[in-house]
Amino acid sequence: MRTFEDSTRVSERHVTGRNGLNLAAKARVGDELRQASDATIEECVRHADAVVLRGLVYQLTGDEKLADIHVEQVAFGYSFQDRIASEDDLRLVRDKATALLRHLRDSGATEVDIGPLERLPRSLELIANAAIPQSEMEMWLEETGLDPLARGLRWKGQPTPAQKEAFQVVVIGSGISGVNAAVHLKAAGIPFVVIEKNSGVGGVWFENRYPGIRVDSPSRGYLHLFGLEYPQPYSFCPGAENVRYLEWVIDKYDLRSHFIFDTEVSDMRWDEDSATWQIAARGKDAPLTLHGNAVFTCVGFLSRPRKAQIAGLDTFRGTVTHTAEWPADLDLSGKRVAIIGTGASGYQTLPVIAKLAAHTTLFQRQPSWCYATPGYIDPLPDEVLWGERNIPFYVNFSRFRTARMYGPESSLRSQHVDPDFKDPHARSAVNKAMRDGCLAFINEVLAGHPDLIEKMTPKIPPMTSRPIRIDPKDNVYTALLRDDCDLVTDAIERVTPDGIVAGGKEIPLDVIVLATGFRANDFLWPMNIEGRDGVRPETLWAKDGPRAYIGSMMPGFPNLFMAYGPNTNGFGGLQIIDLLEMEIRFAMQCVAGMIETGHRSVEVSEEAYWRFNDELDRAEKKMIYADPRVTSYYRNEHGRSSVNGPIDIRRMWRWLRDPAGPPQAETDAGIRPWFGGDLEVA
Ligand SMILES: Cc1cc2nc3c(=O)[nH]c(=O)nc-3n(C[C@H](O)[C@H](O)[C@H](O)COP(=O)(O)OP(=O)(O)OC[C@H]3O[C@@H](n4cnc5c(N)ncnc54)[C@H](O)[C@@H]3O)c2cc1C
Repeated sequence: MRTFEDSTRVSERHVTGRNGLNLAAKARVGDELRQASDATIEECVRHADAVVLRGLVYQLTGDEKLADIHVEQVAFGYSFQDRIASEDDLRLVRDKATALLRHLRDSGATEVDIGPLERLPRSLELIANAAIPQSEMEMWLEETGLDPLARGLRWKGQPTPAQKEAFQVVVIGSGISGVNAAVHLKAAGIPFVVIEKNSGVGGVWFENRYPGIRVDSPSRGYLHLFGLEYPQPYSFCPGAENVRYLEWVIDKYDLRSHFIFDTEVSDMRWDEDSATWQIAARGKDAPLTLHGNAVFTCVGFLSRPRKAQIAGLDTFRGTVTHTAEWPADLDLSGKRVAIIGTGASGYQTLPVIAKLAAHTTLFQRQPSWCYATPGYIDPLPDEVLWGERNIPFYVNFSRFRTARMYGPESSLRSQHVDPDFKDPHARSAVNKAMRDGCLAFINEVLAGHPDLIEKMTPKIPPMTSRPIRIDPKDNVYTALLRDDCDLVTDAIERVTPDGIVAGGKEIPLDVIVLATGFRANDFLWPMNIEGRDGVRPETLWAKDGPRAYIGSMMPGFPNLFMAYGPNTNGFGGLQIIDLLEMEIRFAMQCVAGMIETGHRSVEVSEEAYWRFNDELDRAEKKMIYADPRVTSYYRNEHGRSSVNGPIDIRRMWRWLRDPAGPPQAETDAGIRPWFGGDLEVA
């Protein structure tokens, strides 16, 4: 354990932050805890994450014995995990947690206070097992969700209701980003509407319903900060659980009346005179036109399926479906099924389809790297869920722990090229260790099948395509060992009315599943967007594909803010949802800045757009995913990535934080994302 010099000098500034975090939280002591037996408490504490308990109990008690504990780091999936090394230390943490819970139970208290705020940094450092620099502390404090609206809007003054009423925001899309925007816009009292082409919220999770779909980032990190208490039954939830979560959010925050479903935005045009976006949409029954002073595009980039162009596909007599368009009534029992595509969806669905169908064939051009993660598909034991409900602030500290696990330090360690590391198969020592781990797993599961081992071993290094998390016991490899499951690596020649021809042989089929991914590089597509003077995104992006200024803005497109825009697919640390939250906060602060100052528009200058993108390109050069051998959606036709975000999240957090605030003294790579800096206001 390193010293905590930084945090022992903690002042109020660290825990309230530039924008004033409200961390003075209280947690309820509910009937379930008050009526719990000693045995229940002990058992649930035993199932809880001891690293989380360590920091949490320290925060609530200040017990210094918890500081002196040895923590070690082990590989976990495609990341790393800290754990308490010795049984004695584990016992110590658990005993103290048990004592605390018994005390709360017996005290008759109905709620418990978070304890001294100035202690929080050190409590977090005990969970992080590292000192956290002062400059980062606010970002990490946000991660606890102790202030559920930490990534919401902070007004600088007190705008009148009339000032707010005069400004209308149109949000397009109701996945994670759109729902996040809705919560914060409502909390801020800014009029808004959310337009969604589907009939419900959820985004990719609404659309992708193929058998076996689930998240492969930890579910405790895949929640909004304002909704951490949602009871998720798995460590890695099935897709439908994410839809249920977003439904729960819109009910909790009473947002339903703001959503217009079954309505697809087709056109947007900036009108200079009124300084508004004129928007046309196709509704279920009639066209819709509306205007917005600002538009938040929350349309994702994985919401438009890419259909493979395979000769003869339209002649097939059976069923053809894309994984993102799964028919609710598709019964696979007794069917001969083909899966085309071996990215995340194809590998995720194979083991499940193989159990449902009579025969399954996986058509593979190239294999993907898979990371075995114990417990990936298992529901969580009741004891864990009890702890999440009843251990005060557990979900908050658990969220922080997950964020640290995927934080920039550990994340970038596995993403960066080491220029001095010479190996044709790996780009750094960590990359090689990942490769070795994956290979050992493949060799173990497929032992005795050298042909399969050969075919399932990717030729390019890990992290050059989307990493795929798998369950150690039930996965793509175990599926391929089944008698009723085949792997075909010959190129598909054509589809016939009855099957697929590959390697000169026809494979008879009833169902073809296209697991062929999305038009990931076609940002904002197929909307027809005209900015100032008729400029279009396609023109701006003609040189080398979609780009944005800090993932959010484009020159020529005032008051248009993107979430999950170009180069924001999270490679710089934390989870995707974190960056989406930061981007929505940026957009909100821009809107608030306009409302408060009376400006009608804000826009990034073209010079700043390119200055930021030069920095982005420099950062991309360090990334393993920029390997010239990459052929996935990580690389566009110009040889760069339009989707992945290589920049350390701590820098993005700073840049996206307070655009309408005072200019910041510190500029990073010359990026000045504030009004009057890189952002021109009129
Ligand atoms: C199969 C799959 C698995 C994934 N797994 C993970 C994972 O494990 N972890 C992770 O972090 N990320 C994962 N992702 C990435 C995922 O896209 C993001 O995590 C996140 O869901 C993005 O949310 P979003 O709201 O920004 O976009 P989306 O979820 O894509 O939502 C966009 C919404 O906009 C709507 N829309 C689009 N165009 C229009 C229009 N013109 N008019 C009206 N509405 C429109 C769409 O219908 C959709 O509802 C996965 C993606 C897919 C496809």
